[in-house]
Amino acid sequence: MASYDYDLFVIGGGSGGVRGARMAAQAGARVGLAEMDRFGGTCVIRGCVPKKLLSYAAHVKEEIEDARGYGWTIPEARHDWPTLIANKDAEIDRLEGIYRKLLANAGVTVHEGQARLIDAHTVAIAPIEGGSADTVTVTAETLLIASGGHATVPDIPGAEHGFTSNEAFHLERLPDHVTIVGGGYIAVEFAGIFHGLGAGVTQLYRGEQILRGFDDTVRDTLAEELRKKGIDLRLHSDPARIDRRDDGTLLVTLKDGATLETEAVMFATGRRPNTTGLGLERAGVDLAHDGAVKVDAHSRSTSAANVYAVGDVTNRINLTPVAIEEAMAVVDTLYKGAPRPMDHADVPAAVFSQPPIGKVGLSESEAAAQGRRLEIYQASFRPMKYTLSGRDEKTMMKLIVDADSRAVLGVHMVGLDAPEIVQGLAVAIKAGATKEDFDRTVGIHPTAAEEFVTMREPARVVEKQAAE
Ligand code: NDP
Repeated sequence: MASYDYDLFVIGGGSGGVRGARMAAQAGARVGLAEMDRFGGTCVIRGCVPKKLLSYAAHVKEEIEDARGYGWTIPEARHDWPTLIANKDAEIDRLEGIYRKLLANAGVTVHEGQARLIDAHTVAIAPIEGGSADTVTVTAETLLIASGGHATVPDIPGAEHGFTSNEAFHLERLPDHVTIVGGGYIAVEFAGIFHGLGAGVTQLYRGEQILRGFDDTVRDTLAEELRKKGIDLRLHSDPARIDRRDDGTLLVTLKDGATLETEAVMFATGRRPNTTGLGLERAGVDLAHDGAVKVDAHSRSTSAANVYAVGDVTNRINLTPVAIEEAMAVVDTLYKGAPRPMDHADVPAAVFSQPPIGKVGLSESEAAAQGRRLEIYQASFRPMKYTLSGRDEKTMMKLIVDADSRAVLGVHMVGLDAPEIVQGLAVAIKAGATKEDFDRTVGIHPTAAEEFVTMREPARVVEKQAAE
């Protein structure tokens, strides 16, 4: 039997890679891990975590405004962007330190450098620019690819004048006006962040309605709330070119010929798996058309038996907790004698827009496309918090119920605390709760969440359509 340096070699020190490496090492495997950038990956370094911190910062503006109705007099509040960025950076440094410590404590050997496969069992790790070490070659019985993804920008003239979420976290100053291109998670989250912190925001989305794939009521509700806040959301709008003018500002020309002046353009136009330059072809790893590693339900490469891949590099559901769970399933399968596929059903998700979204299960159109008869329960109301403050912001809640089996197929919410509320309800959905289970659950009063267990009459019934 061949003897390898490692039982498992992990490429990528983000959420999935670090969890897989740690758990495998704790289960007794000899584990090495290569990372070419900072530890923690997209989520910790340039994604979920700094985004949420900025999102909290942005929301403070409304808290201050709302305070008036509760009797508080607050002198004119001012925001200092550099302070926020410095404090955020310090927190990210702290978290990165924790990631490094977790790996060391678990006994994982860390290689800082750029990994490239030589063959299915051999990886060369080249020093990162400025590093002094020589290229190191290691062998491993099994490889775990967890190299994540990267932001993409449209191929239009002047695209270089724009920035992506990577740079958004390090801008030297808050622009007076930002134009955000895209209608997905990142676009709506940053629209809320920039707007809340005081910038003017125009959001350009090429399609019919933002957040494609989300429930239509959620999409319409958020679009309306963004506009009410003053975000200039333009649908069917797509930039054709960007020019920098003599005064340093940007001129965005749209595909329909219209133009708009702005100080900065942010592209939030999707992400792609990081597979270029990894040498995966040398191990016979098949890639999908979008560059993702093709894997089976156990996250095993469909073409290279000793190669596994988790997280954004597989482009399944690109969320940190999913990458972590995929990695845990790989470790259970390989090192704990408990093989299991990853369960991608009913994964809850949140969008930290302002107001935020929480959802789990099917959208109304997805459920209808399955040929089911549906009862739709829906409520829209001003949350109690805004009665005294007078803020004109609605909360929307929606349940999608299978009229025959009575199963609650989908839970959707736009409004204050939606992510926190839907996380709890996701347990009920995962457990197969019926509408009657919701009905016999006593509410907590006064909360917004209690509405989910007190919706008695369907807003409408959707008759069966032919399944797609
Ligand atoms: P998304 O895929 O969510 O959205 C991309 C957006 O850009 C879509 O509106 C898309 O339009 C549009 N777009 C794509 N290509 C172009 C183009 N060439 N020109 C103009 N518009 C374009 O990607 P994001 O970058 O927002 O986020 C990436 C992923 O990261 C998310 O899907 C999610 O999995 C994850 N994420 C999760 C978060 C969370 O959990 N809260 C937060 C942030 C990211 P169209 O709909 O027409 O294709």
